[in-house]
Amino acid sequence: MSLLDSVRRPEYTGEGRCWPCTAVNAFVVVVAAGVLSVLSVPVGVLALGVGTALVYLRGYVVPGTPAFAPRLVASLGLQSLFPHADGEARRSDDLTDEEVDGEELIVVLLETGVLAEAPDGALELSAEFAESWEREMAALREWSDEELAEIVADAAPFEASGEHAYGGLSIEGPTRAVWLSRVHGIADAAAIRALAAAGVPERYRAYATTPLRMFVETCPDCGGDVVETTRSDCCGGSGSVYDSPIDEVLACEDCGAVVYRFDETVDDESASEEEGGPQSV
Ligand SMILES: [Zn+2]
Repeated sequence: MSLLDSVRRPEYTGEGRCWPCTAVNAFVVVVAAGVLSVLSVPVGVLALGVGTALVYLRGYVVPGTPAFAPRLVASLGLQSLFPHADGEARRSDDLTDEEVDGEELIVVLLETGVLAEAPDGALELSAEFAESWEREMAALREWSDEELAEIVADAAPFEASGEHAYGGLSIEGPTRAVWLSRVHGIADAAAIRALAAAGVPERYRAYATTPLRMFVETCPDCGGDVVETTRSDCCGGSGSVYDSPIDEVLACEDCGAVVYRFDETVDDESASEEEGGPQSV
């Protein structure tokens, strides 16, 4: 490991870089360098150089930045200055309408041949369902965001219309409004179609989409390989991510889209209650 590698913090740079954290730190570095250069110009210049390099390599230089910078930016009302290239910082919802018992769901998915038991006893997608779902995803990824939003709204278990908004899909109806990333929209609408074709009763379909995403191996959006990784998400909309900015996720190696979060099913109810607000209704 080189010296540079030991300084580098890949979880806060590149894909994982949080722009509010970077901006707050760049501001602190510039102010500090300005103050120091009043005392000594070379020291000020040195501070500017070292500070900038650290923000570049490590994502931030002020200790504890991920805990306060996103809140600071939010409290100043500046979040809109930091649109995310892929829209993934906004947490994607799911299309569920009513609660379904988890064990009951597994029985239904086994009976309809969506899930199969592997030789070691673990559950996996049946080859038929995996193929059918994959085919639906490949068809849906051809559509533009606007068209896809309408398709997802049609597939939703509640009355809704869809439009392209905030870098993803806004699905809104009189009883429920959700926001989905493009990759979730493709995966979930395709799953609902494939579940219907497999004979899964309607009330289970939307509820099954989130756990099914755990089994995705091919990126719904670009067809790349989906791998287990971590993702820094400290400027996302939910309060809880400030406490643990690194999430375990399944994400696409090619486009970086997050397909599944491992905290998604465990914590679903408390997470959706905490989120609230206009961002994630
Ligand atoms: Zn991808």
